Amino acid sequence: MRKTGLLRAWGRILAGRSPNLSIEITRECPLRCPGCYAYEPEHLGTAGPLRTLADYSGGELIDRVLDLVHRHDPVHLSIVGGEPLVRFRELQTLLPLLSGMGVSVQLVTSAVRIIPPGWIADLVGGNTLWANFFASVVGAFMYFATLTEVPIIQGLLGSGMGKGPALALLLAGPALSLPNMLVIRGVIGTQKTVVYVALVVVMATISGYLYASLFP
Ligand code: SF4
Repeated sequence: MRKTGLLRAWGRILAGRSPNLSIEITRECPLRCPGCYAYEPEHLGTAGPLRTLADYSGGELIDRVLDLVHRHDPVHLSIVGGEPLVRFRELQTLLPLLSGMGVSVQLVTSAVRIIPPGWIADLVGGNTLWANFFASVVGAFMYFATLTEVPIIQGLLGSGMGKGPALALLLAGPALSLPNMLVIRGVIGTQKTVVYVALVVVMATISGYLYASLFP
């Protein structure tokens, strides 16, 4: 942390600015994480559950956020949800404006964006070997934070993913990720890492394919 930044922030607070403001810019989220705090009935206190509140979008959301920022004049602003990236178009306008106002912005996001269902059905919609292989490769390279694989796969199944590719992704995902491969390569070398990755992908592909063939 830079000392000058800290002193500047304290200077602004002593000059009368609010230290922090948190705005839930949307009640929507494409995920359903186990243990999610945002949809707990008491999360917003007397305001009521998040899902019952009004959800703004477009110019109205931008104007309302800017109005709150002008009124409270925070040094630091947390933008949360639901999933704030659901309102990515509005954020494209808001973030440069907030930066120009000298507000430090933190975007609290799972970085999940909805994939068009047509893409999912085309790539992993059936139970072909290709669909299972594709899901295994994506799972092997993708990084899943703990427990997020469950709601992510639930969402993909709801958008048309086949049962076999879902299992393949669920097996390869937690077993590997790109950062994980780089670390393993540093320990056991390139050749053994390639064999290890190939085994995970092949076994996940076969498992997914067999599972959906036996339990269609
Ligand atoms: S991403 Fe966040 S808001 Fe969405 S379900 Fe998970 S914890 Fe809740």
